[in-house]
Amino acid sequence: MTGIVVLGSTNMDLVAYVARPPKRGETVTGREFTTVPGGKGANQAVAAARAGGDVTMIGAVGTDEFGAVLRHTLEASGVDTDLLRTADGPSGTAHIVVDDEGGNSIVVVPGANGTVTALAPGDEAVIATADLLLLQLELPQGAVLDGALAGRRHGVRTVLTPSPVRPLPPELLAAVDLLVPNEHEAAALTGIADPHEAAAALLRSVPEVVVTLGSAGALHAARGTAPLTVPAPRVTAVDTTAAGDTFVGTLAVALAEGRPVEQALAWASAAAALSVQRPGASTSMPYRPEIDAAS
Ligand code: ADP
Repeated sequence: MTGIVVLGSTNMDLVAYVARPPKRGETVTGREFTTVPGGKGANQAVAAARAGGDVTMIGAVGTDEFGAVLRHTLEASGVDTDLLRTADGPSGTAHIVVDDEGGNSIVVVPGANGTVTALAPGDEAVIATADLLLLQLELPQGAVLDGALAGRRHGVRTVLTPSPVRPLPPELLAAVDLLVPNEHEAAALTGIADPHEAAAALLRSVPEVVVTLGSAGALHAARGTAPLTVPAPRVTAVDTTAAGDTFVGTLAVALAEGRPVEQALAWASAAAALSVQRPGASTSMPYRPEIDAAS
């Protein structure tokens, strides 16, 4: 088993399906409602655990009922939650309104995630033993930076998903080994629309980049090597929520196992393609035997 530590968010997604979203001051009747355990950190942790990684989650859930569900969701997929704190107050929530045209609007309330402003005692010792550290941008910036610096101190390969995208401070980039934006995030970070050119520009700040391209697959760029594009399997997508998190979590396991990058990308693409063919976020993530069979 390969050791993967995820320092990141847990959110309960509260999803309402409506014909059209309400205007300000208006009430509309929705068609359906569902709650889905999510958060980019938790999603990546579940994907990595299901792909066969030995995964520890660092972050926080709240003292509300969602907190217990979020913790249980991680544990049910085999994620170690000993370092997942329970912070006084509500869990992180994402309030999502999906309309009949497939558009959505989202309010994210960080809740317990907002209390994770730095590493806690004990976190660094676990990061030190990991093969890989996975970071995203749904926790306060101080904690993300703290984690990246701890990873750097202990020579742990650090992977950052720059989502929700925002300008990245140089001291954070300097501690990142692999940056995995989607094509929109790559464009936002660089001001360059073409993902190949954006990846090349990002290599000035980090040694290795993977840009995910949705149904077009993913491209890999690293200093001193030729860029590589891996196509995505052609499938009928029914729900692409958390496709990127499935990709990153699975990629992390393959990289931690020391697989060559092309093989690792193909395996992650197979996992992400399986997840988009089923509804739901973490619930749609495949287990290792399925990924092996599909790749
Ligand atoms: P995000 O979910 O972060 O927006 P992408 O949309 O780029 O990221 O998707 C991440 C990965 O998921 C892609 O690189 C690809 O492997 C897979 N994927 C996404 N959409 C599809 C699709 N329609 N068909 C097959 N694979 C997909």
